[in-house]
Amino acid sequence: MDNLAILVETDQGLVLVDTGLGLHDHESPTRLVRMFRRIFRVPYAPNSTAFQQLESMGISPTNVKHIIQTHLHFDHAGGLPDFPWAQVHLHQKELAAMLKPNTWLERFAYDKADFTHEPNWVTYENCTEKWYEFDAIPLPFTPRIYMIPLFGHTSGHCGVAIQDGLGWLFQAGDSIPTNAAFDLTPGWLNRMVIGPHVERIKAFAHFHPEVNIVAGHKYQRI
Ligand SMILES: [Zn+2]
Repeated sequence: MDNLAILVETDQGLVLVDTGLGLHDHESPTRLVRMFRRIFRVPYAPNSTAFQQLESMGISPTNVKHIIQTHLHFDHAGGLPDFPWAQVHLHQKELAAMLKPNTWLERFAYDKADFTHEPNWVTYENCTEKWYEFDAIPLPFTPRIYMIPLFGHTSGHCGVAIQDGLGWLFQAGDSIPTNAAFDLTPGWLNRMVIGPHVERIKAFAHFHPEVNIVAGHKYQRI
């Protein structure tokens, strides 16, 4: 099970969308991360982190100036401490939920170790534009990038739409099942864990083949 981190070249430098697990999740994982790694058989592999993948591509991680987080669960935000200089863009409600978790899932799935370096948060709240039929928050980058509020999986969970030539890449995060396999999990499980947007995004995918929709999780049998 991989957690997707997407790298975008923009006029403001390199932008990462989600960071996946970070170096500390491999070198000194908390109990939560150890459990996750055991269940999903995630091996000790620091070279799978965004930080080391950038280095292996010959790109200095210091060139990552901005990070956009779909949400702050440990498996999406674990790499934040590897880029302490970056500005971290996210929905205000997501930051608030992490700082003051209300539900058992919130208390469980945010890992304080991801935030002890006090990230440079940049928060957003108002949808001032539309991306297709979705209410959208424009981010200050070229190519165009929008945060699309898709609350449910967490209080401030957002998808991220990135202009890609004539089309779009839409990182729907954890608002849709692994591999964007819309029918992978039953409706009741979707409503409990993934949130209420699966059917809507499935229909959207059907009518908009020009949009490349990816999920926050990717699974390959090895
Ligand atoms: Zn999540």
